[in-house]
Amino acid sequence: MPAFQPVRGMRDLLPEDAALLNYIVCKARETACLFGYKEVVTPVVESYELLSAKSGEEIRSRMFVFKDLGNRTVALRPEFTASIARLATTTLRNEPKPLRLFSVGSVYRYDEPQRGRYREFWQSNFELVGSARPEADAEVILLTDSLLRAVGLQSYAFKLGNVGVLRAILSQEGVDEKTQNMILQLMDKKEYDEAFKLVKPEKCRALLSELLELKAPDASSTVEKMREKVKGYTEAEAAAYNLAEVLRLVTEGGCNVQTVEPTFARGLEYYTGMIFEVYVPQLEIALGGGGRYDRLIEVFGGEPTPAVGVAHGIDRIALALQMQEKTVEPKHGKKVMVIPVNEQVKSEALKLAMQLRSAGVPTEFEVMRRRVAKALEDADRRRIDYAVIIGEKELRAKTVTLRDMAKRLQETVPIQALAEKIMHEA
Ligand code: AMP
Repeated sequence: MPAFQPVRGMRDLLPEDAALLNYIVCKARETACLFGYKEVVTPVVESYELLSAKSGEEIRSRMFVFKDLGNRTVALRPEFTASIARLATTTLRNEPKPLRLFSVGSVYRYDEPQRGRYREFWQSNFELVGSARPEADAEVILLTDSLLRAVGLQSYAFKLGNVGVLRAILSQEGVDEKTQNMILQLMDKKEYDEAFKLVKPEKCRALLSELLELKAPDASSTVEKMREKVKGYTEAEAAAYNLAEVLRLVTEGGCNVQTVEPTFARGLEYYTGMIFEVYVPQLEIALGGGGRYDRLIEVFGGEPTPAVGVAHGIDRIALALQMQEKTVEPKHGKKVMVIPVNEQVKSEALKLAMQLRSAGVPTEFEVMRRRVAKALEDADRRRIDYAVIIGEKELRAKTVTLRDMAKRLQETVPIQALAEKIMHEA
């Protein structure tokens, strides 16, 4: 047999990395709770038709698609929004609005593997369904800010835009939706020359170039200049006004948006309004991003329902934390190892280990049948705090030997008082 390795783009997360990932997942759950989002667990495998409906060519071409044994064309989810939109149009369609839903789990994209870019990665995902108001847009940005602050990330920066401005200009100039999607996708990849080649009306191309070149000292003056530029394009004016509103609310909510990019576009096709991403100086790729998608639920057969959401790249947040040398101390009490001195006391020792665990004390059992001295060496190596040594004589007196591994001190402790004593000392 060959020595097996993970499939290209897939990774094993060893304890330290897994702990960091779980730490972020916990903070995401806490954030969901603090903002009133209810967690839902949706399938990793969904129908290809659902996942590809509005995701955009970029993601469509990178999905893990296969036929299941029932000959259905299915795919591994490349993101959560399609599943949530499915729920919102079926099982949860009659739920009162707003509907706030949170999910966390692995997603799959056939991306080119590199640092911070994997084929299996984790996202925490928040969707706010039912409000078209800028307060809703502001909320998903503010909860992202709260999450990143809670995990201890430093100097992250938000980039904000409104894809509705670009779409409105293109629509008013008669550019069809399919071409708009291609243009926006190229702009997302910063391939502006290629994108502008697809914009036939000269006037429109000139305006897009001006928006691309637009410079201002700060986010709010960028929005003001943008509003000036798009005058005459009614829907674009409304979208730019909405951007100003969102920016104001987010700033009032205590979050600092560092840049507004008038020609900011995102790969996903379903966005209709505000879009944003968040970055740290140590990485050139986004740690998270989201936006407004007011037509997706309709496309899936639901009532027209506005919605806005965000996905956080947990692996990238973990990477950023590591690059900022943030260490996450595991939160647990003192660790114990229970060591029976011989065969005769093994069952009693095992029983005691179970009692300690029931009392909430993390307890390992000496499963290698080593002599006490060897077992203590191993406990030392693995930074166990206390060894509980069970001997026949002590057991008859309903006591055990408790050894403080760091202080190298031993004492006899009644079994009844053991858990309390360990927890008290911890
Ligand atoms: P998107 O749904 O494309 O906006 O992605 C949301 C977030 O998921 C991004 O901002 C990234 O943090 C993360 N992400 C996207 N693709 C990858 C990938 N291939 N590997 C790791 N994280 C990713």
